[in-house]
Amino acid sequence: MKNVVLLGSTGSIGTSTIKVAEDLPSHIRLIGLAAGNNTELLLKQTGKHRPAAISISDPKKAKQLQNALGTSVRVYAGDEGLLKLATLPEADIVLIAIVGTAGLQPALAAIRAGKDIAVASKEILVMAGEIVMSEAKKHGVRVLAVDSEHSAIFQCLDDKPSSSVRNLWLTASGGPFRDKAQWPKEKFAEITVELALKHPSWVMGLKITIDSATLFNKGLEMIEARWLFDIEMARVQVVVHPQSVVHSMVEFVDGSIIAQLSTPDMCLPIQYALTYPSRVGSDRVQTNFAKYGSLTFEEPDTERFPALNLARRAGEIGGTLPAVLNAANEVAVEAFCNRKISFPQITAMVARVMERHQVAQHPTLAQILEADAWARVEAARV
Ligand code: MG
Repeated sequence: MKNVVLLGSTGSIGTSTIKVAEDLPSHIRLIGLAAGNNTELLLKQTGKHRPAAISISDPKKAKQLQNALGTSVRVYAGDEGLLKLATLPEADIVLIAIVGTAGLQPALAAIRAGKDIAVASKEILVMAGEIVMSEAKKHGVRVLAVDSEHSAIFQCLDDKPSSSVRNLWLTASGGPFRDKAQWPKEKFAEITVELALKHPSWVMGLKITIDSATLFNKGLEMIEARWLFDIEMARVQVVVHPQSVVHSMVEFVDGSIIAQLSTPDMCLPIQYALTYPSRVGSDRVQTNFAKYGSLTFEEPDTERFPALNLARRAGEIGGTLPAVLNAANEVAVEAFCNRKISFPQITAMVARVMERHQVAQHPTLAQILEADAWARVEAARV
């Protein structure tokens, strides 16, 4: 039985995690749940799973929740609430699925309290991969990936050292604008928010769906992989695989390639992270190869999707640059969703902000957060 704290219980990954916990009541106990604003769903989840403690962003809502629930559950609020939950003495693992940078401090707090963490929020490793991984090493805890690609690589690596790896191959669906004949570069300015939200193979949150259309999602995942698996950027590769059945692959130094496959369903990587190192039976995911017929692969088009090269550069240079890429992209995606900029301007904006940044190497957390804030102001100006 694993005692699990779930930060971000009402979002897309959060609700999938709840499903996994309901599938496996004798393996997973939810002892802490934190949500942003969705009081109603948090209340429902709390009634069903009886966690020891919960947290919500707004202190006023926390009071309302405490009144509704009585003394059976401790109710916390805000950033402090996230830290309380991340360090609950009885927790074995903390799954962090909060959008944005809010997950960073709780992740570090959990690690320092000796908890394994399962990371769904990309910002944690993109912004502070160096710090997070060195703290995890120092405290002897695991950083497990919830992202399907990184879960795949983790499973394929099977604890082999990075010296045995020739390349990590992240697969990318290619997003809704993969087809060059249908979507030549000249037509990218016509891409609307509605078109960008039609993802071919995964159902996800808003920000990540836009990121999948620009391929920034894959770019962020390249940087995550670099830190999670302690491998330089030059050995992190991307191949487009529209069916999203091969979740990623490891090419070893002897030329052998090991891949992990299944019908796409986020419940699978979530379950693996929460039950690791065991494999626990579940009927949720079934894969019928005959139904797929063929699995195809193609080279990513970095001319139409410059996000991949921007991310490679950010990962190679390192320091505060990945945090800047991430923050500028967040601002750009929001501007695109508010119809203030066009689709190709998302990448153009990120590139401009990156060019202007003075990189600090081996940054402290304060320097990372400062770079993040700088990039947001700079992006808004651009
Ligand atoms: Mg992914």
